[in-house]
Amino acid sequence: DVRVRFCPSPTGTPHVGMVRTALFNWAEARHTHGRFVFRIEDTDAVRDSEESYQQIIDALEWLGIDWDEGINVGGPDGPYRQSERFDIYQDVARRLFEAGYAYESYSTPEEVEARNLAAGRPKAFGYDGYDRDLTEEQKATFRAEGRKPALRIRMPDEDIAFDDLIRGHIEFKAGSVPDYVIVRPNGDPLYTLTNPVDDAMMRINVVLRGEDLLSSTPRQIVLYRYLMELGVAKEMPLFGHMPYVMGKGKKKLSKRDPESNLFLHRDNGFIPEGLLNYLALLGWSIASDRDIFTMDEMIEKFDIRDVKANPAHFDIDKAISINAEHIRMLDPQDFLNRSLPYLRHQGLVSADSWDALTEREREILTAAGPLVQPRVRLLGEVPGMTASLLGTEGFIEPDEDARKQLKDSAAEVLDKAIAALEPVSGDEWHADALHELLDKALIEDGGFKPRLAYGPVRVAMSGRRVSPPLFESMEILGKDLSVARLKGLRA
Ligand code: GLU
Repeated sequence: DVRVRFCPSPTGTPHVGMVRTALFNWAEARHTHGRFVFRIEDTDAVRDSEESYQQIIDALEWLGIDWDEGINVGGPDGPYRQSERFDIYQDVARRLFEAGYAYESYSTPEEVEARNLAAGRPKAFGYDGYDRDLTEEQKATFRAEGRKPALRIRMPDEDIAFDDLIRGHIEFKAGSVPDYVIVRPNGDPLYTLTNPVDDAMMRINVVLRGEDLLSSTPRQIVLYRYLMELGVAKEMPLFGHMPYVMGKGKKKLSKRDPESNLFLHRDNGFIPEGLLNYLALLGWSIASDRDIFTMDEMIEKFDIRDVKANPAHFDIDKAISINAEHIRMLDPQDFLNRSLPYLRHQGLVSADSWDALTEREREILTAAGPLVQPRVRLLGEVPGMTASLLGTEGFIEPDEDARKQLKDSAAEVLDKAIAALEPVSGDEWHADALHELLDKALIEDGGFKPRLAYGPVRVAMSGRRVSPPLFESMEILGKDLSVARLKGLRA
């Protein structure tokens, strides 16, 4: 059975690269009917925060990415926060040391650098293996100087190769990966130890993660071999390294980029369906001629081996247009319910749950929903589209863009529209009838081109150049308010 994991470190706010990793692991687990384990790697007390921890959970919950074992839900291999597993790491580190797979290293970084310099080795050479075979006497001398040892893994003198699920055969030449630290001199276990130990103990057999971690894989393979010798690991996992996500230009999308901030996208009105669909396209596709799909469809088709190795580009415009498609697919009432927090945030409605709205708000929104839903790409656009319909003011200050629509003929157009509409009775006030009436008064009899005729009327009703369909909007507003707004703009 496939067992995959998502194991972020809780630093900073959730970002799209992190979500893409969670999504592909989740899709792989669901497709194979395997298990998805969610663990938190919070061994860095300085950088990790409780706030970030909570945000990651919120993010997964908002997106509907669920997990089978791990944080909050528990499971057979807990605890699932690394900060609660220090005893385990200490014990494994001791066993690695006792078996000779790890050794005490007293060199300071400055000493390593000085030795490399003296020997004419390049700066990037890294640790030189100096402490590998220290005698007990030498160690005692170091300790007498007050030094404390780090624990380093002894890398074998051989090529290390593996078959990456995404990138194919990968080889690291013997000697290219230095012995590396797993426990700091102060006793803190590092990612290099905790991550493979937990993968082993949680019986993870497929490791899917970002390309940035590729360089740690040969180290982990070696550690895994030692863990198998010690009986801590049962089998070597398969590895797959997902492509970088690139931002603008030729740069990697950085965690600090606003475009990378998941909650910013949520606040702007991405819906989970749209965002996940877009993120799935960062390295994967369901078919060459198809961009839009649901998560159920993704799960049915997903295979990590189909993920492409070349970098994926984060394109916010494409993401938004995919989101628009998913907004259109929502059930009308669902669309309204999801829009409420955005409307509430702008103070346009009295509550953010449907049942708590006033009768009038429900009526207007029910009528406006079908006009607005096909015209927004983000839920954050709903308030702008509906403000004029929910508002009761007799004059709406046109925005700058709308003002430009008002040509010299606007006053005459408004007068003619008012004259034509005032005699209409309340129960004749329907979109089709209004359309006919205004066509006759403004275009046929008035001689205006449609754009000059309807520009001012639209601006009067909504204060905007782009609004929901005009006649339907006027029907929702009713006669009194519609006429008042024409007069308001005329004045
Ligand atoms: N905690 C690591 C990170 O956030 C996990 C890396 C891995 O998947 O192995 O980058």
